[in-house]
Amino acid sequence: MMRFVDMHCHLDLMTNGVEIARAAHAEGIGFFCTTVTPVGAIDARERFSTCVNVRVGTGLHPWWIADGTCGDADVGLLEELAARARYIGEVGLDAGKRGAESIEAQAAAFERTMRTVFEHPLPGRVISIHAIRSASRALDILERTGTARSATCVLHWFSGTSDELWRAVRLGCLFSINEHMLATKRGREYARILPGDRLLLETDAPPQLGNPYRLDAIERSLTSTLEQLAQIRRVNAATLGAQIADRSTRLLDFAS
Ligand SMILES: [Zn+2]
Repeated sequence: MMRFVDMHCHLDLMTNGVEIARAAHAEGIGFFCTTVTPVGAIDARERFSTCVNVRVGTGLHPWWIADGTCGDADVGLLEELAARARYIGEVGLDAGKRGAESIEAQAAAFERTMRTVFEHPLPGRVISIHAIRSASRALDILERTGTARSATCVLHWFSGTSDELWRAVRLGCLFSINEHMLATKRGREYARILPGDRLLLETDAPPQLGNPYRLDAIERSLTSTLEQLAQIRRVNAATLGAQIADRSTRLLDFAS
């Protein structure tokens, strides 16, 4: 049983990710290592293969479509890997500043991938999803392809409308909450009203990709998010933390 599980962390984009993972294991901290390109996912699987407290997601972040790094061949590779992957992410849509121009290409890639995932069911599949200014569209895709019902869909750093929040709840989605989300009034309100059984913690670290990072910064962020969450929901932090850790441990199959 983990003490903390960071459900959305770019451990592979820290130059010292493996050292952090090893030190975290001793501290009872586990990770959902979300990746941003399918080639990166292959590398990360290899790099973290001996880290029992790390699950590597197969991902294609919408920004890497937006900036032209990833094209059709990458989407094809993503589909091929995702068909056999229990853990998928980071995937999704971004219609904000960085992604608006490529939103159609992102949506086509996301829908293709989610359809492939649905057609290749795997028990215990977990998907970490990015949706900026596009939660309705992302939920449409999850619903239309059937993935919302066949996998555990986790909306990372949710920033949609409250109608979109409740629609996601009805579809069975979970929500990974980080410090940035709790820094906004709307994020705190969502953290207050979400059903308790849908809550998870994340950091989305590191703030700067491709540099060394620190385990104590990750742990501090998780602790602070948990404490704020407990305060907002007027519950005991230790109890809430244990419930979230237990839920995350089961999702990432750390117990076995
Ligand atoms: Zn991320």
